[in-house]
Amino acid sequence: MTAVSGKPVVLTADRTLMADHRTLFGGMIAASQTTTTPRPLMDHLLAPRSRLSVAPLGLRRVEAALLCDGFSDGDVAVVEPERLAEVIGPETRVIGVSAGEACGLGMNSTTMTAIAGGEIYPRALVLELMREIGRLRERAPDARVVLGGPGAWQLVANDALRVELGVDHVVHGPVEGNVAGLMHAMAAEDDLPVLLEGGAVDAASIPAIRGASAMGAVELSRGCGLGCTYCVMGREAMRHLPEETILADVRTNIAAGMRGIAAISEDLLRYGCTGSKPHPERLIALLRQMREIPGAGLIQTDHANIISVAAYSDAELAQVRELMVGETGCRHPWMNLGVESACGQLLAQSGSAKLGGTAPAEWGEFAAEQLRRLVRAGFMPMASLIMCLPGETPEHVRATLEWVKGLSREPLTIFPVLYAPIDGSSPPTRADLTREHWRLIGACYDINFREVPRMFRDGQAAVGVPWARRMALQLLGYGQVGLWSALFAWHGWRAAQ
Ligand code: SF4
Repeated sequence: MTAVSGKPVVLTADRTLMADHRTLFGGMIAASQTTTTPRPLMDHLLAPRSRLSVAPLGLRRVEAALLCDGFSDGDVAVVEPERLAEVIGPETRVIGVSAGEACGLGMNSTTMTAIAGGEIYPRALVLELMREIGRLRERAPDARVVLGGPGAWQLVANDALRVELGVDHVVHGPVEGNVAGLMHAMAAEDDLPVLLEGGAVDAASIPAIRGASAMGAVELSRGCGLGCTYCVMGREAMRHLPEETILADVRTNIAAGMRGIAAISEDLLRYGCTGSKPHPERLIALLRQMREIPGAGLIQTDHANIISVAAYSDAELAQVRELMVGETGCRHPWMNLGVESACGQLLAQSGSAKLGGTAPAEWGEFAAEQLRRLVRAGFMPMASLIMCLPGETPEHVRATLEWVKGLSREPLTIFPVLYAPIDGSSPPTRADLTREHWRLIGACYDINFREVPRMFRDGQAAVGVPWARRMALQLLGYGQVGLWSALFAWHGWRAAQ
């Protein structure tokens, strides 16, 4: 066998971030599994290898920044975990890893492990990836391992785990502004601190990606700046990427064979805003240009805010939906909205800025009305709730339960998640969930068990997932509904003892 000389810069991520997720929701479902889901189902159905060469958007940006700054195509390899042995060798100087869940501390992870048990797959697979890198590193004695990405903050507070994983440096924040300099410094074996601060660039200088991004993700904005104190985005002002960059990223994904595009933002409806005031015409103009790109399929999105929905007219919401769906036949485009609690007073005292100017006493009804407006515009809203917010009482939980019951006939989904502190303190666990919490979870999932299969099936069909895979996923979903129903009943009974 020929010895591998290795690429100077190798970029990779765990399987959940580099799999063949045809839709954004498919990627979220896979990333929500715990190790109680049999591994073959992950490998072959929920997070199978992609026939396209996809990578997390953050790694694509790093790749683009390096190529813009003196590195050549031959210097940089972006590869899935299974191909690392082909590119790591004596010439390798940097192995960059993007991680979503290095410690499993995110809200989704703590919630899923509390409900289903086991370990969240994104963390389990990061650990597996790091073990593989540790093994391959013997061939690359001069290489340094650098970990970044959305879950890097979790490793900043856990130095013992960093050492155990063999991570030399943790990068905090976006790095387009200084990644080339950091790579050169590492290649020159300069001393660098363990924690490396990323160097941000202004939105106009964010380089367009050079290859397909996982789930067809394209950023519309970065940051949020609304100010929720429990969120790492709270103080990071929202910056909008220029239309040319967004459209170039869409074209790159379509040229690579992606059928769906995921328009990523902390608040889609604020694209082009000044301060926190949405400008619907800016978003509509952008979506129109995205829709006109030949080959553009379903445009999905992740987040929006309740107060931003309120700033759109019914006609504008319908127009946004029409441009996102196009001719794909998708009937239930979703949009995630953080309602967090029906109790505005609890939100206000927890440091949430989501109320905008809404009176705390009116928050529950106001949020419900905005969800209903989205339904009327043809969306399937996905509301999220946070359990165990600081100061939460059983009355707050009961009030939110009544709020959920009031929406139970609507075509929407509601996902309760556990509060996740960002200061490194211990997150709430299953032991903190009361009988009221389990009732709330049960009421939400009564709705979700009915609506999620429809939403999932609809999105998969709209991006051309083959019939057989859709059927297999549906069967898996029905199996999980049965299992989860039993788990909710068991946890509720235990909490009542
Ligand atoms: S609105 Fe959402 S993204 Fe923005 S600061 Fe609050 S929780 Fe974070």
